[in-house]
Amino acid sequence: MNTYITTSIPYVNAPPHVGFALELVQADASARHFRLLGRDVRFQCGTDDNSLKNVRSAEAAGLPVQDFVARNADRFERLGEKLDISNDEFVRTSHDPRHVGCVHTLWNACAANGDLYRKAYEGLYCVGCEQFYEPSELDDGRCPEHGVVLETVREENWFFRLSRYGDHILELIETDELRIAPAHRRNEVLALLRRGLSDISVSRSAERARGWGVPVPDSDEVVYVWFDALANYLTGLGVGSDQTLFQRYWQSDGERIHVVGKGISKFHAIYWPAILLSAGLPLPSSILVHGYVTVDGKKIGKSAGNGIDPDLIIESYGTPDALRYFLLRHIRSGEDGDFSEERLGAAWSGELGSQLGNLANRVLTLLATSFDGIVPQVPDSELVREAARLPSKVAEAFEAYELHVGLADIFAFIGEANREFAKRTPWADARALLGDLDPGERQTISRRLGASLSEQVFGLATVARCLLPFLPRSAAELHDRLGIAQPELYQDPLVVSGVKAASDAVLFPRRPVA
Ligand SMILES: [Zn+2]
Repeated sequence: MNTYITTSIPYVNAPPHVGFALELVQADASARHFRLLGRDVRFQCGTDDNSLKNVRSAEAAGLPVQDFVARNADRFERLGEKLDISNDEFVRTSHDPRHVGCVHTLWNACAANGDLYRKAYEGLYCVGCEQFYEPSELDDGRCPEHGVVLETVREENWFFRLSRYGDHILELIETDELRIAPAHRRNEVLALLRRGLSDISVSRSAERARGWGVPVPDSDEVVYVWFDALANYLTGLGVGSDQTLFQRYWQSDGERIHVVGKGISKFHAIYWPAILLSAGLPLPSSILVHGYVTVDGKKIGKSAGNGIDPDLIIESYGTPDALRYFLLRHIRSGEDGDFSEERLGAAWSGELGSQLGNLANRVLTLLATSFDGIVPQVPDSELVREAARLPSKVAEAFEAYELHVGLADIFAFIGEANREFAKRTPWADARALLGDLDPGERQTISRRLGASLSEQVFGLATVARCLLPFLPRSAAELHDRLGIAQPELYQDPLVVSGVKAASDAVLFPRRPVA
């Protein structure tokens, strides 16, 4: 099945913080999972360069918009590399040569369908959200998202007939033809749709946009930043330029998945489907909505000074996997969650270090001592059967957009493997084999030890395979140490009997590098 998956494109008015890292790793784990299932996957990330918010931040920093945006967009792109994000495409809306053509293609299609019209308008605008608010939507007269007093904006510009598409979108979401997860985010969107939609303004005077953004075709106005930003999902597929990828990933029968934060679910679940319906194009199949990350219980904000630079965390552990693990395991996929460096450190040394790393080290050391590192025949034991059930549990967690449950299942199995290891005391058997034994006794103990170690290796190999989408680097290292080739697909046969494992190097060292 063809599968297209995207992150949203963040504003680049500030460097990335740990909250955006959450979205990157969720989308990346999903993309890797789909590839391991054998699907034809395209994974896209990017930056929203054209918002008014960026223009104002550049002015505040005393820099030309172009330079300011380029510098921050670079940091977002590099963060993806540092986190081992496996995207095939990165669209930067201010300088991707395909983007203007894509926005114009959508604009012209909506215009041809009679959905764009001129109207004089006065409304309350939040630059932080880049949207107009109805007085009824405000919190004490302030933006519900940013808590700021809104600006009154008056102008004549282009409007999009959003109201025309409300009923259709309602039906698509109710029937799950357009899936929104988790359920409470779906309910919020349904409530908005049932209240009825107003048309939205989709252009700005060049003056108000400070001349920054995509020009409206044959006009000196600038396209509203959300119309522009949402188009990025098709820019990367070549709409308006070379449409080969578009046909393969958007017009095929496959899945089209957007991973977004809860603050922008309305734009993705209502505006974007409406624009696509107007343009006569297929809709996304799923919108997966994650929550916000707080730091030590507080909302991340510039004024709070708690933005946590993900680069520094990655550097201090010498691997992105500590951060990937914490965000994917300890923040529920569709919910808000709290980040703390202390809990990250505890998860790294406790869960990855003691539970997984330590078990692997002990098993491999005994295997080297007693069997020259060669894995004996794997028995048909309860632990082996439990391991064999693990991959389908992890797949179900991805299907349900509950990635944290997938990791919890993996670690529940690791707990089981540790208990089994402690119960069978293989180290005592290994010690006994070093002493004088009669041949019958030696054979009994050796068989028992071989069965115990090989069931553990089978379990660890299964864990390594299941961890591939979540912690690609550590999973690769575990495969290496077990002496097993990393599979292309989940369904590749898992053969451990007879392989030679390595015993050097410690997995998940207890202390961070710095
Ligand atoms: Zn706002």
